[in-house]
Amino acid sequence: MEKIIDEKQQGNALVMEPKTGNGKKLMIESYGCQMNFSDSEIVASILAKEGFDTTQSLEEADLVLINTCSIRDKAEQTVRKRLEKYNAVKKINPGMKVGVLGCMAERLKAKFLEEEKIVDLVVGPDAYKDLPNLINEVEEGRNAVNVILSKDETYGDISPVRLQSNGVSAFVSITRGCDNMCTFCVVPFTRGRERSRDPQSIMEEVNDLAKKGFKEITLLGQNVDSYLWYGGGLKKDFKNASEMQKATATNFAALLRMVAEAHPKMRIRFSTSNPQDMTLDVIEAMAKYRNICNYIHLPVQSGSNRILKEMNRLHTREEYFTLIDNIKRLIPDVAISQDMITGFPTETEEDHQDTLSLMEYVKYDYGFMFAYSERPGTMAARKLEDDVPEEVKKRRLTEIVSLQREHSLYRTQQFVGKTVEVLIEKESKKSDAHWSGRTTQNTVAVFPKKNYKVGDFVNVKIEDCTSATLIGEAVGYSENN
Ligand code: SAM
Repeated sequence: MEKIIDEKQQGNALVMEPKTGNGKKLMIESYGCQMNFSDSEIVASILAKEGFDTTQSLEEADLVLINTCSIRDKAEQTVRKRLEKYNAVKKINPGMKVGVLGCMAERLKAKFLEEEKIVDLVVGPDAYKDLPNLINEVEEGRNAVNVILSKDETYGDISPVRLQSNGVSAFVSITRGCDNMCTFCVVPFTRGRERSRDPQSIMEEVNDLAKKGFKEITLLGQNVDSYLWYGGGLKKDFKNASEMQKATATNFAALLRMVAEAHPKMRIRFSTSNPQDMTLDVIEAMAKYRNICNYIHLPVQSGSNRILKEMNRLHTREEYFTLIDNIKRLIPDVAISQDMITGFPTETEEDHQDTLSLMEYVKYDYGFMFAYSERPGTMAARKLEDDVPEEVKKRRLTEIVSLQREHSLYRTQQFVGKTVEVLIEKESKKSDAHWSGRTTQNTVAVFPKKNYKVGDFVNVKIEDCTSATLIGEAVGYSENN
């Protein structure tokens, strides 16, 4: 799953507050989606109990873990390059152990050990609780692999350590796996079937974050709208649940309302939504509670009905428009973002034009756009030839990226002259005299620091903008402060 961490975060070694462990140093690097970054916090928590402290220095590490992404070939190549770098360091420090976690581990399994001789440990996304045993195996000189996918592992009982946190915003996982079987996507194979986390353990994690002063949480899953807790078990087995379980089940709208009511001053976000699973009661909950942010990441992948069908996206272009219309009717100042794939097998110029016209209709606030990358084992790879030439994919990608830029600018321009609430997250990358934060719409805003501090909710008068950033002046604390 994605969505997608700030590109600059990719590969960052995440660190936690130093503790006095047993002197063993762990370096953990994460690539890919938000869920991988969130999983790395679970891994760090499991290994902190084993006495590991985190480090950002490869040279200093006893154990290096790389949390990997398989979504596109390029993501896998990035990881292979990092492994080359580890190999060079391992020559100087042969005692250093290297483990591959996440989706590439799941996809390649033990093959990884043959392909990359420096790897000692291969651990899939549902097997992190086994890490202490696996590390013991490795320390005794054996390679170790656990890539078993689980029916019920949600790590609900593990309290993640917050790695490199700003103390303001945090991710909270609510579902794992995905049942959607989009034909291009490797996620169902690498992260298994969909299951939801017990709402009580979600609430405990959110309560704990609130107590620690966090101001914003993002509920995380491959497909959050499909969240369904009925006492445990896979989503696909819900049909076999007892009448009692069915009557007392918690769906995503109910979970959202629960969190929003328990913490009225906390901002609540969620990601990712799949159009086919997003229901009116979720939109109504967003409209009702001011602390649920007015922002939806709603990947569509293509504007062509024929391609949507080939992708096994279970909605049409017209149904997507109806959903967008409903969202905008109930939440007029909502921001919507997209994921788009260009050059899916058999995509014609006409299909591509459909994508551009769908974008014109929605005028997304921003988007993440990709050239199709064939993934081994997926239905598309098995049934369809990757027949759109690379240069055509690239040209179409350039066209949708530049149209998106126009729309993003159009959207940010609508804020100029308005005063908006911003939650301050960090110093602006470009100036140490400015804060950077986000509006409820998830748009980045920068403004002079004055006496405000990280974690404050402030009203910012927007004076200027680029296609990605609002530029303004803080005019006071907001009522949420
Ligand atoms: N679960 C979300 C959904 O159903 O839309 C997002 C899943 S995915 C990990 C994030 C994005 O990567 C997708 O929305 C899609 O745009 C892109 N993606 C997935 N598989 C891809 C592929 N084989 N080639 C190119 N892009 C891909």
